Amino acid sequence: MHAVGSPMSIDTVPVPQPGSTDVLVEVKACGMVPNLGNVLANWTRWFPHLPLPKLPAIFGLDPAGVVVEVGQQIVDVKPGERVYVNPLRSCGACRMCRAGERTRCRYFTFNGYFGFGPDAQKIYDLYPYGGFCQFMTAPQYALVKLPDNVTFEQAARFGYLGTSYNAIKKADAVPGQSMLVDGISGTLGLGAALIGLAMGMTRILGTGRDRRLLDRVKALAPGRIEVHALDDGPTAEWAKRCTDGEGVDFMISALGPGSSARTMLDALKAVRRGGRAVNVGAVAELVPIDVHWLMDEQIHFIGSNWFTSAQGQEMAELARAGLLDLSVFEHQCFPLEEVNRAISGLERRNGGFSNYVIVP
Ligand SMILES: [Zn+2]
Repeated sequence: MHAVGSPMSIDTVPVPQPGSTDVLVEVKACGMVPNLGNVLANWTRWFPHLPLPKLPAIFGLDPAGVVVEVGQQIVDVKPGERVYVNPLRSCGACRMCRAGERTRCRYFTFNGYFGFGPDAQKIYDLYPYGGFCQFMTAPQYALVKLPDNVTFEQAARFGYLGTSYNAIKKADAVPGQSMLVDGISGTLGLGAALIGLAMGMTRILGTGRDRRLLDRVKALAPGRIEVHALDDGPTAEWAKRCTDGEGVDFMISALGPGSSARTMLDALKAVRRGGRAVNVGAVAELVPIDVHWLMDEQIHFIGSNWFTSAQGQEMAELARAGLLDLSVFEHQCFPLEEVNRAISGLERRNGGFSNYVIVP
């Protein structure tokens, strides 16, 4: 990308050398944010606090591929291994990083996309290769080793899946619980449903707007999933009816851009006494939360994004065991030459079932 919002170009650069604790990955598939072109075109207006890399830069958030070379200080990764590359980059030395909490590092930056603070460029300088390329360097801490039954295209969806996985972990979920996913047919919400099924949630309630997509979600597990169209009345009342008046153990807010605060507040009221609500969605307007109610009902309201490589490995193991079903995705694959069509096109979109992948 040479200019924000303008078409990307394919440039030829030397194949990079991995640093001593890095690997070189031949990219086989790279997941992308649906409608990335539109997001980038509006970036400075929507997200002035989230720095993009100095341009030109190689974009591409969610890569998977094969390790082709390892740095001199690497002992547990070998050429030929199939990996997902978690784009989470962090300093590695702060208190949070040392505790394994890399998402809480002040240098937290998405390789190939954007950063969360003013120091992001220091990280971009270390790792300038996003996933829309043939060969990228990656630190060994970023690698998730893929089981044979997970394809590269499926692994390219790990970013969204992992975001939902981390949210469900933050909700302290245990098997047998009930969950509500607000926006269940979207890219994040469908992942939350799949992970909830894999982790033993027995009641999965989901809301959305598109009835056709909601029916598809319910069909994944008709005995465990219930769906509710937002046009059919308040979510909280419906969810309470589904749970014998008690409310759900936790709620994942996975609403898309442009969703209203009112929709989020409605779903929040579906949470049971002592339950949790985790926001991973894109509600952008201010949400007037009744904090007295939070106190009375002992509700936790939690913000969350992304996931650690350890959590990525846990997801990979759920898939290896056949518990996490990744076969539901319809891959929309584009060669690198069609990257501009891919980031601007939404044709044949089936909500979260569509998986947009660049295949270098
Ligand atoms: Zn750190």
